[in-house]
Amino acid sequence: DTKVTVPIESLDFLSAKSFPLCMKQLHEHLRSAHHLKHGGRLQYGLYLKGIGVTLEDSLRFWREEFTKIMELDKFEKQYAYNIRYNYGKEGSKKNYTPFNCLKIINTNVGPGECHGCPYRHCDSGILKNKLKGYGLDAQAVNDVVDMAKKGHYQIACSKYFDAVNKTDLGLGINHPNQFFEESQKLLKG
Ligand code: SF4
Repeated sequence: DTKVTVPIESLDFLSAKSFPLCMKQLHEHLRSAHHLKHGGRLQYGLYLKGIGVTLEDSLRFWREEFTKIMELDKFEKQYAYNIRYNYGKEGSKKNYTPFNCLKIINTNVGPGECHGCPYRHCDSGILKNKLKGYGLDAQAVNDVVDMAKKGHYQIACSKYFDAVNKTDLGLGINHPNQFFEESQKLLKG
C-alpha cells in the first residue's frame, strides 16, 4: 500500500478544493468553535483517516483545537479514546471505514450539529450564502442549490466539485473520500 500521508498542516489548504462540502463545513466549524459533537467527530474523523491523516496527527489535530476551550486532561479522558477507536486502536479494534454518501445523507442531524450532507440537511438559503461566500459564480450556485432542492444531493455535490475544481467532469459522487481523491488527481495533474 503506497498511500500518501496527509499532514494536518495542509488541511486548511486542502479543504478549499478537495473537500466535499460536508467535510469542509465540519472542518470550518472545528476551526472556529474548537469543538464538534459526536456525530461530527465520527464523520470527519473517519474521513481524515481515509485521506491519509495518521493516528498521531489526528490526535494532535483534535487536541490542538479542543484544548482551546477545555483542559488537556478533559480532552485525554473524554475524547482521545474515540480518536484511537476510529483507528482501530481501542475497543473491538475493528478497522472502521469512512462513511459513504448514502450513510451521511440518511443520518439524523439534530440542532447544533453540523454533520450530515449539507445538500440534504442545510436550509437552501443558508446553502446559497455559503456557496457564494466560497466564491462560486451565480450560475454554479443556482445549479447546486437547484439540484439539492430537487433531492438530487449527489448531483449537487458533483456540480460543486466541477465549480471549485474548474472542470466539467460531471462525476457520480458516492463517497466523500472519492471526491477528495478525484480532486487531488486533477490538481496533481
Ligand atoms: Fe458529502 Fe456525499 Fe453530500 Fe457530497 S453528496 S456533501 S460527499 S455526503
